Amino acid sequence: MNILLIGPQGSGKGTQAQLLVGEFGLYYVESGEILRAAAKSDPVIDRLINKEGKLLPDDITFRLVTDKLERERPQRDGILFDGFPRSVSQFELLDDWLSQMGKKINLTILIEISEEVSVKRLSARRIDPTNGKIYNLVTEPPPPEVDINSLVQREDDKPEAIKKRLELYKQVTGPLVERLDAAGTLKVVGGERPIEIIYEEISKAIKNGH
Ligand code: AMP
Repeated sequence: MNILLIGPQGSGKGTQAQLLVGEFGLYYVESGEILRAAAKSDPVIDRLINKEGKLLPDDITFRLVTDKLERERPQRDGILFDGFPRSVSQFELLDDWLSQMGKKINLTILIEISEEVSVKRLSARRIDPTNGKIYNLVTEPPPPEVDINSLVQREDDKPEAIKKRLELYKQVTGPLVERLDAAGTLKVVGGERPIEIIYEEISKAIKNGH
C-alpha cells in the first residue's frame, strides 16, 4: 500500500509521518528534504527553493525523488509520500512510474489547517543544526539545556517565503486535492487538534483502507 500525505506547510505532516512509519513500517520519502540536500551542491536549486520559495520544475523533482526510491524501495510499494506529488502533473508522473510495477497511490490523507495557523506554526519553527531536531517556539519549545540562540530558522520559513509557499499550495495542490476527492481516495482530517487524536484518525483510515 502506498500513501500520500497532503497538507499546507505546517499542517504536521512530518509529525504524523514519523508515527505512521513506526506503526506501519512504511518507507518515508519527503521531497523537501531531498531537494534541500540537492540544493547544497546546486546553486540554482538553492536559489529557487530556499531564497525564492518557488517550486522546482516537475521533471527535476520527479527524477530526484524516484532516483532515491529506485535505490531504496525498488518494489515501489509500502511508501509514505510527503511533499511529492503536490500537483496534478506530478501525480500523473508518479502514477505512471508506480503503474510500471502494478502499484499506485492507494490512499491520500489531507491534513487541513487554516492559513493563519500555518503562518503561526512556520514562523515559530526552529531547527537544531547539530542534530536536525525540529522545535516550535510556541508549541514545542526546546528543553532548557538547548540554547535558543543556537537554533536556526529555515530560510523559507521567513514571512515572505511562507506567503509564497502558501499561495503555491492553493494554486498547485488545490486541483490535485479535487481530483483525488473525485476519485474517492481522499481522507480529510482536521489538523488543528492534538497530535494523538489526528494520528488515531489517520491510523484507522489506513487500517480500513479509506
Ligand atoms: P517542503 O519542506 O515540503 O515545504 O519543501 C521545501 C521546498 O522544496 C518547497 O518550498 C519547494 O521549493 C521545494 N519542493 C518540495 N517538494 C516539491 C515538489 N513536489 N515539487 C516542486 N518543488 C518542491
